[in-house]
Amino acid sequence: MKDLTITGSINAELPDLFTGRHLIDGQWVTSPGSFERVSPSHGVVVSKSAEGGADETIAAIGAARRSFDTGVWSRISGKERATLLLRVADLIEANVDRIAVLETLESGKPISQSRGEVGGAADLWRYAASLARSTHGDSHNTLGQDMLGVVLKQPIGVVSIITPWNFPFWILSQKLPFALAAGCSVVVKPSEVTPSSTVMMGELLVEAELPAGVCNIVLGYGDPVGSLMSTHDDVDMVTFTGSTTVGKKITEASAGTLKKVALELGGKNAQVIFPDADIDSAVDAVVFGVYFNVGQCCNASSRIIVHADIADDFVARVVTLSRKVKFGDPLDPETQVGAIVTPDHNAKIDGYVKAAQAEGASVVLGGDRLAVPGLGDQFYQPTIVTDVTPDMAIATDEVFGPVLSVLRFDSMEDAIALTNASTYGLSAGVWSENVHTCLEFARRAEVGTVWTNTWMDGFPELAFGGMKQSGQGREIGKYGFEEYFEVKSVVMRVGRSRENWVKDRG
Ligand code: NAD
Repeated sequence: MKDLTITGSINAELPDLFTGRHLIDGQWVTSPGSFERVSPSHGVVVSKSAEGGADETIAAIGAARRSFDTGVWSRISGKERATLLLRVADLIEANVDRIAVLETLESGKPISQSRGEVGGAADLWRYAASLARSTHGDSHNTLGQDMLGVVLKQPIGVVSIITPWNFPFWILSQKLPFALAAGCSVVVKPSEVTPSSTVMMGELLVEAELPAGVCNIVLGYGDPVGSLMSTHDDVDMVTFTGSTTVGKKITEASAGTLKKVALELGGKNAQVIFPDADIDSAVDAVVFGVYFNVGQCCNASSRIIVHADIADDFVARVVTLSRKVKFGDPLDPETQVGAIVTPDHNAKIDGYVKAAQAEGASVVLGGDRLAVPGLGDQFYQPTIVTDVTPDMAIATDEVFGPVLSVLRFDSMEDAIALTNASTYGLSAGVWSENVHTCLEFARRAEVGTVWTNTWMDGFPELAFGGMKQSGQGREIGKYGFEEYFEVKSVVMRVGRSRENWVKDRG
């Protein structure tokens, strides 16, 4: 423990309590009930939010439906929609610090990371604005001289957006600007754990003069708010990011109305290191991949699969570098890793580590809760577990903490088999200086994203999503944008050449 890099509280002044309200049909609305968020790092109440129920959810869905059907947003030009999205991007950039501080206090993530995510989200809005102007369908001019076919893309309608606590503002921005760019109206439900940056987004949308009812926000819990958003007749699509368990519930709930469902779920992502890799870069990427966001990241590389010839040396280097990562006060600009989201989640992480030890795995670094001077103990130590076998829960489950499992391989076949031995299929990485090795791995890994000689680089232009139980559909990029459309064929006769069906006209 004393060999770790732990930075204590910087005693920063905290902002005033944030009061969150729903945004329904352009109005800020409260509820009789409310819920509070205690900062996982600072142990004080940082926000108090109106607790929505069925009434608020139905009102929000109704407002979204009306705004969609009147065409106030769905039928205006792409140019007009793009102009508004660009205005929102500017407003995000002007408000980065205010949003980032609350995001850090509610989630426990480092302030430098929150600033990066909030500021970076502006780019997602700008990219979506470019799509709003460039979307088009197809024309078919080869159907015969008396026919012309046109395939139109039309916004799918009212979209429910349900988001998790680990990247509240970023994930909202992976969905909302794309749905708006397509012309959809939306109802958003942020996680009850981190609701406030979504409310702040609502404030920016109002300031940017998005028409009332196009974006509605309801604060509250999965039941009843999220489940009503998944079952209501007036909702055409649900886009959800969160756990695989809740994703399955949403799929079941939505079956009654056969609405479209797009899911971004969990992952058990592996980085595979071949002996010819650039070891320095691979060690750094492994350390980044496991501790970023305290491992509470769908894309966390919570397992590495290392070639047996280099495994001992590689792990020793990962341990040494892990000791240098700065864990501590999330409000300290130098901190790289902050707090665990809830005490229950901290206990769950610890449970995985203790169970692995009981099954014969070795903990070579960390392996316990962490107390940060001046801030309490809702933190977890950087943890590395070796002697892991593929059947252990720590090797198969999404631990969602700063815990790395180490497995070994001998051949490409082994590496592929271990990578694919998972119910998840979100992402994977391969480290080798041989392009053939990298490409063979990339083709055979059953995941939505493969990183070769890097980890977790992302771009608005590229599709993101998972195979197997990591989800369905894609987010961001051209393919993510396509999810928000219905496709309609218009078949047109040119001229009066059609023969009557009924020949006897007498
Ligand atoms: P969660 O599934 O517990 O909750 C996500 C959201 O669903 C919250 O807003 C919650 O209130 C809501 N919800 C809960 N029950 C519901 C129900 N029955 N119907 C509708 N909505 C309901 O997830 P979490 O704990 O907030 O987030 C962590 C999970 O998210 C992890 O599994 C992680 O892998 C996943 N995640 C995936 C991605 C990705 O893009 N693949 C990104 C980030 C997080």
